[in-house]
Amino acid sequence: MPHPKRSSPTQNPWCTIAAALLLAIGPRPIAAQAVRGVDYTLQVDSAGASGIRVEMRIHGAAAEFRIAMVAHTEYDDEYWRYLAGLRGESARGKVEVTREDSTLWRVRGPAGEVTLHYRVDFPVSSPMDQAAWKAHLTPSGGLIGGPHSFLYYVGAEHAPVGLTVILPAGWKIVTGLHPAAGPGSFTASGVEQLTDSPLLVGLIRSWRFEVNGVPHQIAWLGRAAGVTFDTSRFVGTVERLARETVGMFGRTTYRDYQFLFEDGSHGGLEHRNSVTIGIQSADLARDPDAYLGQIAHEFVHTWNEVFVRPRSWIGVRHLPPAPTGELWWSEGVTLYFADLVLRRAGLPVRDSTRVARLERLMTNYLANPSHALVSPEQTSRAFNQPPDATGDYTPSMFAQGEMLGTMLDLMIRGGSGGRRTLVDVMKTLLARFSPEHGFAGADLERAVSEACACEADPFFERYVRTPGALDFGPWLAAVGLRAVVSWAPALSPAGAPAPDLRVWTDDAGADSVLRLRIWFPGTQWGRAGWHTGDRLDSLNGVAMHDPQQFRRALDQLHIGDTVRAVGAHGPASVSRMMIVTGYDRPAVRLDLRPDATPAERMRLAQWTSGR
Ligand SMILES: [Zn+2]
Repeated sequence: MPHPKRSSPTQNPWCTIAAALLLAIGPRPIAAQAVRGVDYTLQVDSAGASGIRVEMRIHGAAAEFRIAMVAHTEYDDEYWRYLAGLRGESARGKVEVTREDSTLWRVRGPAGEVTLHYRVDFPVSSPMDQAAWKAHLTPSGGLIGGPHSFLYYVGAEHAPVGLTVILPAGWKIVTGLHPAAGPGSFTASGVEQLTDSPLLVGLIRSWRFEVNGVPHQIAWLGRAAGVTFDTSRFVGTVERLARETVGMFGRTTYRDYQFLFEDGSHGGLEHRNSVTIGIQSADLARDPDAYLGQIAHEFVHTWNEVFVRPRSWIGVRHLPPAPTGELWWSEGVTLYFADLVLRRAGLPVRDSTRVARLERLMTNYLANPSHALVSPEQTSRAFNQPPDATGDYTPSMFAQGEMLGTMLDLMIRGGSGGRRTLVDVMKTLLARFSPEHGFAGADLERAVSEACACEADPFFERYVRTPGALDFGPWLAAVGLRAVVSWAPALSPAGAPAPDLRVWTDDAGADSVLRLRIWFPGTQWGRAGWHTGDRLDSLNGVAMHDPQQFRRALDQLHIGDTVRAVGAHGPASVSRMMIVTGYDRPAVRLDLRPDATPAERMRLAQWTSGR
């Protein structure tokens, strides 16, 4: 999942809800013609260029067909805005290209060999604002290819693809695509492989290692302002992580793998056999393990979310996919596995022990009643939907998913007498599903039932498909634990009662309009009558334009302060006075039950050791 910087804590800090382009009407079908293949040439003219030129040679085109831009399952960066100069040519006559929609064009001309030409003039961001997964170029290189660069022939998604990349002198290229004969030449089995294999290009350093004979490569694209760091330690750590992950899941899902790191960008995105991650070398100089959590998360996605993926994410399309109810598994359980694999590899993790992590997870889960009042399936389906898709509740599919994954793991350990774990469920899914054959909720439930040798239906019905507060007791008991939950006033880092600032805004769009996101109705702003989606214009007379400015203004407030917020609910202007209050926060402590049996104690020891 793409992981930009964001201002709301309700999602995993690396993950986002990107606004999806929802187009109501799809194209009318055009009679199919057997396309024998499509050869692309992608050219970067010079090291100073910010865009690319693309030639798309179609072998066996129909007299009339459509071309489109792929809509990614998770984000929509709207790169159609940067596409220019699209034209077609054929040796046998005129080719006419007409735009039908933002991501769709109709082409008419003589059937047979048709060549299309276009440019993509990538937007230029300042280094720290550059998202690692979005195609871009700098004077020393960048990321090209992917859904941002390639149009595809609608109806010929599985036609073989050839690609030739022409780069400035001295630039290298690293990608998950299969190399072909000739410099800068690659092949792909179809559109999906082509657009899910971005190309890291430029002044790249690289290191190689193998896991069970499968080649892995680490590519590093530096920048002029980058600083030196301990590369041998960084490379060694990534290798250890890769080795442990392959060992945990028992297999690779790829023939080779590419880690694509870029200094000066941020965020990351998983692909079939590569990952794109933005890194600040200054962070690595300070702490060589600074990015381990994110790298582990994105790498685990290779198994969970990319290879084993929800059914509605199968195939390529030029419109966003239908919402899926299984993202709590694909994202939240990925967090669970990422923490586990780091522990197994003996690498640094955020929480000192698995018990400490679970205490923190439970605290966060209980602190927001949205987690119990919106089902994980509904939370998942709200991904990429308007912010008010879950009303004035803002659950996190990451918090819900990791919590559910943990309880399922304990349930399986209890049911199987400690012989199986959640990792076995993942192995079952890896055996049954593939990028061509996705899973549904019932498939998860079946795999859990088998691992547990128990009936998982009541759990899924009560806690996944419908809203319900997790009753931790029975599953904690499987490993001899019990939870002690207490509520007390939330405190600031200095130890004083903290003001209730639990309100967020979504990133302002081009119009700089801030929309409120209410965490749940019991928060200060919820009680005052604000709703998710309400417009916020000003705070104490100061106009509000961006989420960071709003956050800074909130952070100045103390308990007892008076705040006037002005905005709008629909067409109606709203002005409300609030007096800032404190709020209560839960604390969770996990204790060993005095009456825990030897078998439960043994399972606890196994679980805490990461086995
Ligand atoms: Zn993710």
